[in-house]
Amino acid sequence: MVTVPRRRMVVDESICRNCGKCLVTRGCKYMAALRIDRDEPPYIDMGRCTLCGACLQNCPFGAVVLVAAEHE
Ligand code: SF4
Ligand code: SF4
Repeated sequence: MVTVPRRRMVVDESICRNCGKCLVTRGCKYMAALRIDRDEPPYIDMGRCTLCGACLQNCPFGAVVLVAAEHE
């Protein structure tokens, strides 16, 4: 049996400049990149995220990263 490593998208809050380009309204068509408070960095709802990678491309600062699920 082949084991596929579980992965997840996270926003590195130390890099994020809160520009909003990754958000549902501007980048994520799966409604997974969300921001509750305008002053807070987005978070990615892995219940919706398909790991499509669009936010990796859309973030101009490299703040969205793909990590192993264990590295939450
Ligand atoms: S990987 Fe795709 S689905 Fe997941 S948050 Fe980024 S843009 Fe949305
Ligand atoms: S696009 Fe990048 S810098 Fe802008 S809000 Fe999203 S994670 Fe933060």
